Amino acid sequence: MSASDRSPTIRTVRCPACGGASRYAVDNPWRPFCSERCKNMDFGAWSSEQYRVATPPTAGDESDEPSVLASDSQQPAKH
Ligand SMILES: [Zn+2]
Repeated sequence: MSASDRSPTIRTVRCPACGGASRYAVDNPWRPFCSERCKNMDFGAWSSEQYRVATPPTAGDESDEPSVLASDSQQPAKH
C-alpha cells in the first residue's frame, strides 16, 4: 500500500475484466488483465472491443466536422 514501493518502470493499469489494479509488466503474462482468470473471463469481448478501438475513424468524416464548427462559431467575440 506504499506508493514509493512501486518501481517506475512498472505501470499499473486497470484490469478490463474486473476493473481492479493490474500490473502492466513483463512478469504479468495476463496483462492488461490482473490474472489468468480475468483474461479467460473477458477475452472474447475484450479482443473484439480492442479491434473496434484500434480501428481509426474515417478521415473524411472527421475533416468535415471542423469545417462546420468553424463557420458556426464565427460569432462577434470582439467588439
Ligand atoms: Zn481482473
